[in-house]
Amino acid sequence: MRKIEHLGIAVKDIEASNKLFTALMGAGPYKSEAVESEGVITSFFANGPNKIELLQATNPDSPIAKFVEKRGEGIHHIAFDVEDIYAEIERLKGEGFQMIHDTPKDGADNKLIAFLHPKGTNGVLIELCQEKK
Ligand code: ZN
Repeated sequence: MRKIEHLGIAVKDIEASNKLFTALMGAGPYKSEAVESEGVITSFFANGPNKIELLQATNPDSPIAKFVEKRGEGIHHIAFDVEDIYAEIERLKGEGFQMIHDTPKDGADNKLIAFLHPKGTNGVLIELCQEKK
């Protein structure tokens, strides 16, 4: 893993949260994108080399809807940038980590992504992401 790529924050109302984070960070989102497969709308904010992703559910079956219902708004995941997501999944499985996705899928921001199960990572949802080549 090369660096933390972004922090994901689950929100109820992305319009309101976009305004809040624009005021907080002094600049608006550089990208907003719907990810159909995850049932979310996302916004990305840049802060130097770091990024924050806001996620709002678009349907009640979305993992974000379930998270907000259970735990409220807040930090949802930490995403790590990886060079080769396929190799990293194999390496982590070899270390005994449980993957939610054994094969990467399309994520926001032109990335291939896969999540680890938070049961095996101290309750923290970890996302691997690799820039699509
Ligand atoms: Zn993410």
